[in-house]
Amino acid sequence: MVSYKEIGLVNTRAMFAKAVKGGYAIPAFNFNNMEQLQAIIQAAAETKSPVILQISKGARNYANQTLLRYMAEGAVAYAKELGWKRPQIVLHLDHGDSYELCKNCIQMGFSSVMIDGSALPYDENVALTKKVVRYAHRYDVTVEAELGVLAGVEDEVSAEESHYTKPEEVIDFVTKTGCDSLAISIGTSHGAYKFKPEQCTRDPKTGKLVPPPLAFDVLKAIEKKLPGFPIVLHGSSSVPQEYVDIINSNGGKLPDAVGIPEEQLRKASRSAVCKINIDSDSRLALTAAVRKTLAEKPAEFDPRKYLGPARDEMKKLYIHKIVKVLGSAGKAK
Ligand SMILES: [Zn+2]
Repeated sequence: MVSYKEIGLVNTRAMFAKAVKGGYAIPAFNFNNMEQLQAIIQAAAETKSPVILQISKGARNYANQTLLRYMAEGAVAYAKELGWKRPQIVLHLDHGDSYELCKNCIQMGFSSVMIDGSALPYDENVALTKKVVRYAHRYDVTVEAELGVLAGVEDEVSAEESHYTKPEEVIDFVTKTGCDSLAISIGTSHGAYKFKPEQCTRDPKTGKLVPPPLAFDVLKAIEKKLPGFPIVLHGSSSVPQEYVDIINSNGGKLPDAVGIPEEQLRKASRSAVCKINIDSDSRLALTAAVRKTLAEKPAEFDPRKYLGPARDEMKKLYIHKIVKVLGSAGKAK
């Protein structure tokens, strides 16, 4: 058993309380390789933003859970080396699907876990979440739960259609389970194809898809039931059109990829939403940079020569999110 405290990580409790009060959100970036992690830590250290490193099932399968956990420990030391004296870094399990997995991650040094029982019947979700919370809180590890179903596919979390969180259930759920934060469904969705073209309208000038707005009325109703309680948004990439265009004009094929407009995420950040999950945008940044470099320099075969620019592009993206969208810059000095 290793406590996250021994390796310099923090849980989400104080971080979220500050964010809810301050009207900003903490970025939760997924990582599964070194370049991504370097970019996240450089961006957070430069902007002095608290940051959540999260590991999905797909990432665990791809890179190995133990290796990722030690990379996170290395990330704390790296952040300090970059001059960030008191880094506020959370290591979070994204979409934990069983009690055993959550327990295992807590024993390995994760400071926060998500137990996703959202696909289960309500009572089973309550029971499973409660069990994880009881274990996690013994070690001062914070727990994110989920109520409501997000549409979309990402790393083996998939659902055909979304079901908005029911505001009338949230008090009962939070009281019974004791969870520390709650992921809700208000129209965000996993992946780079968040909406089908028929769900969108088209901008008459550009011909680009305009997604339907998030259900801010549902968010407001939830906030009213749980004043000050930390709310989490999954599937909140914006799918920047410039990356999609670079990918498509360099041999890629991402027709009609569409995300959540940043203006809506900015609005959400000012509410009780205090954690915003971003994964697809970093994949797009990486892919765009790699495709562009390889198209321009077809003789290049040193991975550092195309992963380096990809890392720089991801860092730019992370800084943009922190400074211009979530408002978390300077909150972890
Ligand atoms: Zn998610």
